[in-house]
Amino acid sequence: MDKDLKEKTLDELEQIVVGLGQKKYLAGYVFGFIHTKGISEISQITPLSKTLREQLAKDGYFISQLKVISKLADPDGTVKYLFELPDGNRIETVLLFDDDRRTLCVSTQVGCAMNCAFCATAKVRLQRNLTAAEIVDQVNTVVRDASCVARANYAIRNTHDAGRITNVVYMGMGEPLQNYDAVVKSVRILNDPAGKNIGMRHITISTCGIVLAIKKLADEDIHPRLAISLNAPTDALRAKFMPINSKYSIAELIEAAKFYRLKAKQRVTFEYVMIKGVNDTVLHAQVLARLVRGTRCRVNPPHAWRINLIEFNPYPGCEFVASGRERIERFKEILEEAGIKTTVRFKMGQSINAACGQLGAGWGGKDEGRGTRDEGRDCEK
Ligand code: SF4
Repeated sequence: MDKDLKEKTLDELEQIVVGLGQKKYLAGYVFGFIHTKGISEISQITPLSKTLREQLAKDGYFISQLKVISKLADPDGTVKYLFELPDGNRIETVLLFDDDRRTLCVSTQVGCAMNCAFCATAKVRLQRNLTAAEIVDQVNTVVRDASCVARANYAIRNTHDAGRITNVVYMGMGEPLQNYDAVVKSVRILNDPAGKNIGMRHITISTCGIVLAIKKLADEDIHPRLAISLNAPTDALRAKFMPINSKYSIAELIEAAKFYRLKAKQRVTFEYVMIKGVNDTVLHAQVLARLVRGTRCRVNPPHAWRINLIEFNPYPGCEFVASGRERIERFKEILEEAGIKTTVRFKMGQSINAACGQLGAGWGGKDEGRGTRDEGRDCEK
């Protein structure tokens, strides 16, 4: 991927162009044409001289492109894309609509090694990390696909800007911080004003809790929002369905979250998947409220933290059951009474296995994972 121009930041493109004896500003055309016009051939970057375009191609440079295998739409408006990578592996990407927000949930790995018990992706064993280009191209391809989204989406009234992506969340297949370098590079590319220009407050990296990587991210010069998949208020319970907890305790995770908040001055949210009879009782809510309130200090008052309660999304073969609205609302009340800002995320895209924790549902791994068994509506039809 060393020669993939989609993989390059603007700085890296400038070095390439200058290395070929050309003016630095020409790199802006390469970056802009790739990330705003969605071109896939070097010959299409027409502001460059024919000689320079030929030189780039002769030196082996190219522009990679994800292949769309299928697009499925849920009646709630959610659209799920199945992409094929150059090596035949496949990933899923989900477009969600919520008021004025068009949020794209991108994947960062083929499969995942973290083995969270409630997550369908964990059943697809880790094949490999995605490149920065493969992460960025999920956004570029969906934006290009605006007309399909507009046709497919029942929720959109004004279809002329249906493909505009307002938010990107790194919550698809894989653990983003296990693919640290490519993820950070992809954030730089998506954030660049010469390209997609997606602001840091509109980019969220979600992690199951890789403490060292959270601290490393805090030390970067870019700071997206952070979402931490907590899901239990005690170590004993969390370790039962999140193996990462045996490496990093909740106390270490909270310390890392505080460090990120202090250093990055960026929002940190705790995600809490609500599973019936497992982590959703009144006692669990009270312990969670105490835990979050216990993090308070001068710069981290309890209201600085947010909790997202996520309705559990069952997938074929899973042993867990969703909590149901009544229990979720009661849980929320307890947290809010403790002064903690709490949001409930109810299921979206469930009929096409596009909801949180459902990506890869029905796959059996690389060889078996050449398609999905989803029943949603094909956007092309
Ligand atoms: S929840 Fe995230 S980290 Fe855990 S197995 Fe699923 S994709 Fe991996």
